[in-house]
Amino acid sequence: MRRPLVAGNWKMNGTRASVAELTEALKQQALLATVEVVVFPTCLHVGRVVSELANVSIAVGAQDCSTEAGFGALTGEVSASQLADAGCEWVLVGHSERRLILGESDGVVSQKFKAALACGLMPVLCLGETLEQREAGQTLEVVERQLACVIAAAGIASFERAVVAYEPVWAIGSGLTATPEQAQEIHAAIREQLSREDKRVADGVRILYGGSVKAENAAELFGMADIDGGLVGGASLKANDFGAICRAAGN
Ligand code: PEP
Repeated sequence: MRRPLVAGNWKMNGTRASVAELTEALKQQALLATVEVVVFPTCLHVGRVVSELANVSIAVGAQDCSTEAGFGALTGEVSASQLADAGCEWVLVGHSERRLILGESDGVVSQKFKAALACGLMPVLCLGETLEQREAGQTLEVVERQLACVIAAAGIASFERAVVAYEPVWAIGSGLTATPEQAQEIHAAIREQLSREDKRVADGVRILYGGSVKAENAAELFGMADIDGGLVGGASLKANDFGAICRAAGN
C-alpha cells in the first residue's frame, strides 16, 4: 500500500512576509495523517519554513541541489549536504523549468539524484514531455529515456528511497490538465519500466502527477490506480487550496 503524497512547489515565489503568512495559514489546515505532505520553498526561505513547520507534519524540501554532494568551490550552488543540514528532507530534481530553461540534461539530473540520495534526502524525480513531443507521438519515448538515464546512473534499488513525478510540460502553469486517463497511461508505463528492473521496487514507488492540479480536479486524478498524489505548483501558494488538495489525496 503506497501512502499518498502531496508536494507543493512554491517555485521562485515569496518574500519573508508572504512566506510567513503562507506557513501560518498551512498550520491551520486540517490535514489527514494518512497523507504525507511536503512543501518546497526557495532555498532562501528553507531554514525559516523548517522552523515554522517544526511542530506540524509538513516536511520541507528544496527545489534543486548541486551535482556535487559536499562542499567546495562552486559559486552560487547549494549542495544536498547543506540542504540536509538546514533541515530539508526532500529535493526536487529535473523539474522541466530547469531542464528546458536552464538546460539541465538527463546526465546532470542523474548526478543531482545521486547527490540527494548520498546526503539522505528523498529526491522527487520530475519527468515529462513537451507539447511538441506529445503531438509528435513521442511521450512514452521521452519519459522512458529520462527515467532510463537515472536508473542506469543510480540503480533500480535507489527508487526505494525516491519518488517520481510525471509532469507533462504543456500542463504546467498553463491551466491545462492531463485527463485522469492520459495521466494514468503514463504513470502505468513508468511503473512498468521500473517493474522490468525490479517488480517489488516498482510496486512501492510513489508516482505523483503534476500539471495544473487544483482542488477541483485533484480527487479525480488521485483516484487513478497508479497516481499516488500530486506535485502542485500554483495552487500550493494558497493554503486553503493546497489543504483541499491534500485532503483529496486521502479520500
Ligand atoms: C510544477 O511546477 O511542478 C507544477 C505542477 O505547476 P502547476 O501546478 O502550477 O502547473
